[in-house]
Parts: sequence; structure tokens; C-alpha cells
Amino acid sequence: MTEAPELDIAGREFLLISLGGCPDGRNTVIDWATEAIAAGRSVTVHVQDQLDLSRIEQSVAGCHTGARIAVAGPEYDVMQALAAIRACGALPCEVRSSVTSTGTISLFCPHCAHTHRVETRPGSAHECPSCRLLLDIRVHRNSHHGSYLGSVAA
Ligand SMILES: [Zn+2]
Repeated sequence: MTEAPELDIAGREFLLISLGGCPDGRNTVIDWATEAIAAGRSVTVHVQDQLDLSRIEQSVAGCHTGARIAVAGPEYDVMQALAAIRACGALPCEVRSSVTSTGTISLFCPHCAHTHRVETRPGSAHECPSCRLLLDIRVHRNSHHGSYLGSVAA
């Protein structure tokens, strides 16, 4: 676990998103909300136990210029949410994230072009659930797709 990043308090309003129903993510969002309110900023808190990207997109669409978005929760949920938020037009500098737990990731298979939620770690190998090819999982993730990229294992 890494310590949650500080908010960019230059933001004029904050959309704070807690994902995965985990206490760590909620506590991070509470800390962020406390910090933003203390700075006199307006705060919207969005809590999801089950990932619902369309509701996140609606919340992002309701943001104004100068808004900052911060997401906390398990890695899979955070990666998917960040990809959805970026697809809505948010700039990387406007978005912060805090990963509260790892172990489940989104894996893109370049062979069959499916994306799966898998229990593994980057740097290891995992069989694609669709085409059964063994994939090496690169450590770098694709923030645009919210996935780690697999490559066919030698
Ligand atoms: Zn595949």
C-alpha cells in the first residue's frame, strides 16, 4: 500500500470516488474530503461498492472547469474508473488515484483482443481465459484502456 496522494488544492471543486466497498478506500476519500472542505472547496463524494462505470461517467460529466477528480479503491476498480474518467476528457493532471489493494487486475490479450479480470500480478504469466494462450503480463499498464497488456509467452 502506498500513501494516498495529496489533493491538488488549486482545484475549485472535487469529485471524490470510493470504489470496491473497502474501508481503506472510504477512509482515503474521507481524508481527501476533509482536506478539500478545510480549503473551502466544494466536494462531491461518490461511493460504489460494485463498479458501475456509467454512473462514474455521469458524475464526471457533471464536473465544471477547474474540477479535480480523485479515486480510491482496489486496483482493478481504480484502473477501470481511471480509463472511463480519461475517456470523458479529464486530463491526467486533473486526476489522482490511490490503490488500496492489489491482486486483481484487468488483462488485455493481444491474441484474441479480450480483456479479463484476473487474479494475478504484473510480471507473472497467466493463461488467457478466452483463447488459453499463456501470456506474460507486462509491468506497464495502459491507462487509456485501464488494462495491463499481455504478450505471448515464449
Ligand atoms: Zn486471448
